[in-house]
Amino acid sequence: MDQEFVKSIIPLIPILREAGEPARLKREEEAAHALTVGKCVCGYDVPLTNFKPYWTGRVNALDNVCKGCVPQFLKMAKIICKNCKLPVLHVSPHSDNAGFKFEAGKVYHVNACPTCSPETLSVVPDEKLEKEYAAKVVKSYRQSGSNAPISEWLKTFQC
Ligand SMILES: [Zn+2]
Ligand SMILES: [Zn+2]
Repeated sequence: MDQEFVKSIIPLIPILREAGEPARLKREEEAAHALTVGKCVCGYDVPLTNFKPYWTGRVNALDNVCKGCVPQFLKMAKIICKNCKLPVLHVSPHSDNAGFKFEAGKVYHVNACPTCSPETLSVVPDEKLEKEYAAKVVKSYRQSGSNAPISEWLKTFQC
């Protein structure tokens, strides 16, 4: 289980213990259920302990894929919301019309998704934005004709 998640639960324990009134207990039971059960992409309720937390290289994410669904998703590219720490989308490996490659088994990241931020209209992964930015920087560097090392030249670069 994610350290942050565990830390956030600890202060709740005494409150849960002292709950005496039935109506309150029920709500708290529901809350406890929501904390221990997640939904797989196939729609099944799965205990959160079955979801494997892992470091994506950028965030500690939780895979909300049940054991039955794992084999099919291993062949896909995964887009993780850095805010929810959960997959937003699984896409088949492909190159988009800008030539950006989504590769099987690789993880891509977005800052927010429609679940946590309903105003989110598109999910363009950081990896794609970074690649585009890097290409822009290199192009400007070449066009500038500068003899300075790119690290020095970058200090004066304005996008
Ligand atoms: Zn499933
Ligand atoms: Zn999200």
